[in-house]
Amino acid sequence: MTRAGRSLGRGPRLLLLLEQLFYRFPMAVEEIHAFSRCRGGAYPVCPRCRETMEREYMSFCSRCGQRLDWRRYQQANVIYVEPGDHTVHKEHSIPSR
Ligand SMILES: [Zn+2]
Repeated sequence: MTRAGRSLGRGPRLLLLLEQLFYRFPMAVEEIHAFSRCRGGAYPVCPRCRETMEREYMSFCSRCGQRLDWRRYQQANVIYVEPGDHTVHKEHSIPSR
């Protein structure tokens, strides 16, 4: 009788550990969705779940729990989302002078 089967359990556990590490490691917020017809609202986009967040400078995404890094937020890409029109155009938030 061999005990080869014992090593099978290691893979998934290691993956889970890695996933937890990734969630704790901050991901940079680099995208802002601006809704031009919605009273000029602009919302940061979570780099993991791609959902817009209601507030800026939150430590964690309220939807997926990803830790967030706001150091590059000032250079984030602003994406203008037109309601009812699925074509979006990209524009950099800081105009080059
Ligand atoms: Zn998220």
